[in-house]
Amino acid sequence: MQDTNVSFEYIPISQLNAYAYCPRRFYYEFALGEMIVNEHVLEGQQLHERVDTTGSRARDEKLQMRRLYVCAPRLGLVGYCDLLEIENAAIGDDLFAAARDGKLYPVEYKKGKIGKWVSDHTQLCAQALALEEVLQLEAGSIRHGYVFYISSARRDEVAIDETLRAATLNALAEARRVAAMNIPPPPITNWRKCRDCSLEPLCLPRETITLQTPTRGEQHGNSLPD
Ligand code: SF4
Repeated sequence: MQDTNVSFEYIPISQLNAYAYCPRRFYYEFALGEMIVNEHVLEGQQLHERVDTTGSRARDEKLQMRRLYVCAPRLGLVGYCDLLEIENAAIGDDLFAAARDGKLYPVEYKKGKIGKWVSDHTQLCAQALALEEVLQLEAGSIRHGYVFYISSARRDEVAIDETLRAATLNALAEARRVAAMNIPPPPITNWRKCRDCSLEPLCLPRETITLQTPTRGEQHGNSLPD
């Protein structure tokens, strides 16, 4: 597959979730700007609207900051954190000092149920990496975060460990490479993911794979001439 001359300096943090879910989905959404709004997408957008109000407040001995914009030029990541929490803090406390003490972590909101796809962990880790760059923290300062699944009303604690960090950085590099290709990558063959994917009517994964699979005659080099 050839690459185009287009280079994507910044990858949106939310699009890294799409890449980790399926590189072809990422390509459709990010490189081609395609989107299909079905009932599930609409429900997710409406649920997110409720949590997307900016502002800070102190609650249960935590300082909460909603909808924080992060731009990390060294990594080439840009996007929003749904919620940042700082433990044992109040409005007016030194954010940088709290972050250096390991008391700051991101929380990402998702409409689905707990523990469905690890791509949510990739998105959360990308937020942590971007925050560490922006706040000039030592790598590894943000040690955990949470994904809050609205349908289950539960928080899933995610360790931002070496393994997840390496996988996220690898996904970022690969996403940048895939975004520059001039045709979409092939479909995945995890049909459960495809079933839940709003772009399935556009992508046609089964049909595409069938058309790309050589017939027996072609495999043996004896297909009929056109
Ligand atoms: S339908 Fe499947 S292969 Fe196609 S974009 Fe969605 S997840 Fe990827």
